[in-house]
Amino acid sequence: MIDLFSDTKTRPTPAMRQVMANAEVGDERANEDPSVNRLVERCAPLLGKQAALFLPSGTMCNEIALAVHCKPGDEVICDATSHIIGSEGGGPAAIAGVMLNSIVGARGIYSAVQLQEKIHPEWAHAPRQRLVEVEQTSNFGGGAIWPLSTLQEVAGVAHAAGLATHMDGARLLNACVASGIAAAEYARGFDSVWIDFSKGLGAPGGAVLAGTRDFVYEATRLKLRWGGAMRQSGIIAAACEYALDHHVARLADDHANAQRLAEGIAAIEGLSIDVSAVETNLVYFDVVATNWNAEKLCNALLGRGVRMWPVNSRTVRAVTHLDVDRAGIDEALVVLDGIALSR
Ligand SMILES: *Cc1c(COP(=O)(O)O)cnc(C)c1O
Repeated sequence: MIDLFSDTKTRPTPAMRQVMANAEVGDERANEDPSVNRLVERCAPLLGKQAALFLPSGTMCNEIALAVHCKPGDEVICDATSHIIGSEGGGPAAIAGVMLNSIVGARGIYSAVQLQEKIHPEWAHAPRQRLVEVEQTSNFGGGAIWPLSTLQEVAGVAHAAGLATHMDGARLLNACVASGIAAAEYARGFDSVWIDFSKGLGAPGGAVLAGTRDFVYEATRLKLRWGGAMRQSGIIAAACEYALDHHVARLADDHANAQRLAEGIAAIEGLSIDVSAVETNLVYFDVVATNWNAEKLCNALLGRGVRMWPVNSRTVRAVTHLDVDRAGIDEALVVLDGIALSR
């Protein structure tokens, strides 16, 4: 199976499993797990923040950040394609109790001018505006990278209006590898930021949320309250640290494979894609000129050992990662070429 459904489909490599088996562990909840402590001490400066917190998932990072920054009824401004809107089970409403006010950006990226237009003076009739959120890279924006200047302008507008800023960095390191810009630089204007270890980094789980010491203190209370505190989770943190050492630079391979896949798709009759829009490891293409809808096409692919995700009736997503090499991409293209106009 060539599984391009998501970069979460990676399995820990033998070397990663070895490190996990040998990890020094303790009771994480009591701050006694040396592997977890080492990971967060490393991630805080990586993200340019005072402190950081180990959490089971990126979703929990987002939900905790929303709840620390906001009170119930407060408004979070984010892009219309945001993961917090469509992919977290309604958590922002159910858990943090926040209102989401969305901006229709370009490929998941909105401008400081668009943000400024959303911001209004304090008015008791409206939800209290409190937080501005961005996603680096933008998942449903096609893996697009927020330019550093746009992030700085957006953060500037937010802070000038007294709003806090949060960066969903599920694939922040993909942006860093693609652009050569450091994670701390991208995150500079953001009061909180997190990275995921279970996406392109290839760990079996884990995410790290960073911010000021006060922010992390409050986030820790919610981690405990919501049952996110673990015990000997150093087994997972060791995999995350291994990923930081061995799986970051290689994200460039995923990006090259995504380019190759996109160029191959562009050459297949009936499929359409904007190759220049593929900046990282996410590849979205359109099947509307074939006789397939996206779901049926993906089912046909699955029957031939290639897995992709129909995100809507006409769009398919394919994600490159650690467990699919260049030969796998070429094979997926052969299968796709054989199927695209066969219906
Ligand atoms: C995957 C993802 C998340 C959630 O992370 P999990 O670790 O899967 O909970 C949040 N935001 C974006 C943009 C993602 O792609």
